[in-house]
Amino acid sequence: MTQSYVIIGDGIAGSSAAETLREEAPDADVTVITDEGEALYNRILIKEFAKGKLPEAPISIHSDSWYEDRDIDLRLNTVVTNVDPDAHTLSTHEGEEIEYDKLLVATGGTPTQLPVENSDAEGIHHFWTFQDARAIREHAENSDTGVVVGAGLLGIDLAAICAAQGIDAHYLMRGECWWRYALSPDGAEIIHDALDERGVTPVFGSGVDRFETDDEGHVVSTVDPNGDTYDSDFVGIAIGLDFNAELLQNTEVECDDGIVVDEFMQTNDPDIFAAGDITQFHDVILGERTQNGAWGSAKEQGTIAAKNMVDSGSEEFRWVSSYSITHFDFPFLSFGHPTLGDDEAEMKYEDNTWRRITFKDGKIIGGVLVGDLSPQSAYKKLMREERVVSDQKDVLLEKRVDLEKVAPAQQ
Ligand SMILES: Cc1cc2nc3c(=O)[nH]c(=O)nc-3n(C[C@H](O)[C@H](O)[C@H](O)COP(=O)(O)OP(=O)(O)OC[C@H]3O[C@@H](n4cnc5c(N)ncnc54)[C@H](O)[C@@H]3O)c2cc1C
Repeated sequence: MTQSYVIIGDGIAGSSAAETLREEAPDADVTVITDEGEALYNRILIKEFAKGKLPEAPISIHSDSWYEDRDIDLRLNTVVTNVDPDAHTLSTHEGEEIEYDKLLVATGGTPTQLPVENSDAEGIHHFWTFQDARAIREHAENSDTGVVVGAGLLGIDLAAICAAQGIDAHYLMRGECWWRYALSPDGAEIIHDALDERGVTPVFGSGVDRFETDDEGHVVSTVDPNGDTYDSDFVGIAIGLDFNAELLQNTEVECDDGIVVDEFMQTNDPDIFAAGDITQFHDVILGERTQNGAWGSAKEQGTIAAKNMVDSGSEEFRWVSSYSITHFDFPFLSFGHPTLGDDEAEMKYEDNTWRRITFKDGKIIGGVLVGDLSPQSAYKKLMREERVVSDQKDVLLEKRVDLEKVAPAQQ
């Protein structure tokens, strides 16, 4: 009998799973369902579009014919509302019932709303989809003042969009520095200075108490908890994601701020898999359950999930993730899990060059490199090899990391 594989989500995780399924199971039925109105596009590049630096065309990755050519049934504008694991069916918002033998949930997340007064006013943006990017670009081009909230990897994209669009912006952060869970004030200072130079003023010990609007309901200013008011006809918020797992709420599939999977991307239901940002996965290098929001990791999880949907337990997810920022005239890269760990080492070199490595049980598990990315392959190699190296911080923090100088692994 022909196997039926159904994938919910046509982001990079769902789409790479579809591609792999077609390769691994040439005769199977493969269906991809997405609530978006367009097929896979490059989510990483939508910030460049919103800055006004890229046209639409290069952002699209798959045309509709990509699916037709591979005999993949793509359903656009279709929301999956419910999954019934016993019946092996799912339901769509239009009441259609679709059967599956194996199901992949690759539904990612939706930006979290700020729970303050007027947070749904006109002119306040969240950033996840191409549609969001179109609205941001149009509005940013016509805005003079702005506020950005959310001191992390997506918040800085919104800050960079303000800078590129010539908006006089304030970047309101709760703590004392940008991405305070991964960078120390020394490292973050490089980012703060670069933002300042581009017309985005970082404000620390701040946040949002409420937004103020005009008579038409359009945001005009942001009031922080200290009572300070910032003019803002444009507001961008990036304070995290709510994971799209509600379609499994009436099932026994284990969810915990995402969908829990093992290293094979399999849930506690043997016919249901998950991949991408939505997963709480067992990281075999870290040795614990964790979550990751990065393009490369989501792509690999999709591929691995598909292989295991066809041949259960055939390949585990073993991956060192990377995330780079290209908004400044110096490079920035975080890898692995820079916010976790029980030990760390960091060093500031000359201007705009800084690095930090995090360790768990003596092994590298992540880090952040600013200004000089040359040590990344050495650190990632040590991480993949799970070498105990935290006793050799001096060698690891040398400007040029020489793996020959790192003491051999203890047996
Ligand atoms: C602006 C921006 C910049 C980024 N920059 C970087 C970067 O520089 N480097 C990097 O590594 N990562 C970056 N990321 C993160 C990266 O894009 C994500 O980690 C990755 O796209 C996650 O892919 P995914 O397939 O797991 O989820 P998604 O891409 O979120 O795809 C999930 C899909 O499922 C759909 N869906 C959800 N629920 C349902 C439902 N019930 N029914 C049907 N469809 C549903 C969603 O609409 C969506 O299309 C960025 C993200 C954004 C938004």
